[in-house]
Amino acid sequence: MLHQQIDEKLAQKEAWALRRQLGIPNNKRLWVLACMDERLPVEKALGIAEGDAHIFRNAGGLVTDDAIRSAMLTTQFFNTKEIIVINHTECGMMSASGDFLSEVLRSRGIDVDAVAVDPALPELKLPKGVFSKWIKTFTDVDEICKQQVELLRQSPLIPDDVVIHGYIWEVETMSLRRPYERLSEKVNTAEAMQTKKTKSP
Ligand SMILES: [Zn+2]
Repeated sequence: MLHQQIDEKLAQKEAWALRRQLGIPNNKRLWVLACMDERLPVEKALGIAEGDAHIFRNAGGLVTDDAIRSAMLTTQFFNTKEIIVINHTECGMMSASGDFLSEVLRSRGIDVDAVAVDPALPELKLPKGVFSKWIKTFTDVDEICKQQVELLRQSPLIPDDVVIHGYIWEVETMSLRRPYERLSEKVNTAEAMQTKKTKSP
């Protein structure tokens, strides 16, 4: 009967609109931490769809205080059981050092030692000289990915049973890989291919 179909659709719509009130988690019980870079299409990279995950993006895809805040909320209160970190090649966070960026801001008249990092929470102050570290530039995407996974695993604000993994998005191939596992390094030379040879006498 048509009214049954209509009622079913209405129930689905209600469950979607009232998810947080009804305690319904996102479809995959997943929280994603990813860089804000426009070349990283998070849903496409992970093969997920609308409604599947809580997605947090910032410069670098790094475990900042606000990332921890969001990860804590989704895992402690919204039933999220898995975390995936995505960092990417050619990330802007590797293009300059924190000290260099601080210097540029100073030259623009900004006092980086006195500025409020959270305007709505003036209590949150950085000690003098920490601003450059707070920007969180990095020098190696594989290393930073592993570090972010460890930082999340070690956080007392995230339950121990949450499963946490990290991947690298290659902007040059537009595909995902594990940290330190570059397929491109295994395909270009005989040595890399470990070519079989006759034993030398
Ligand atoms: Zn980036």
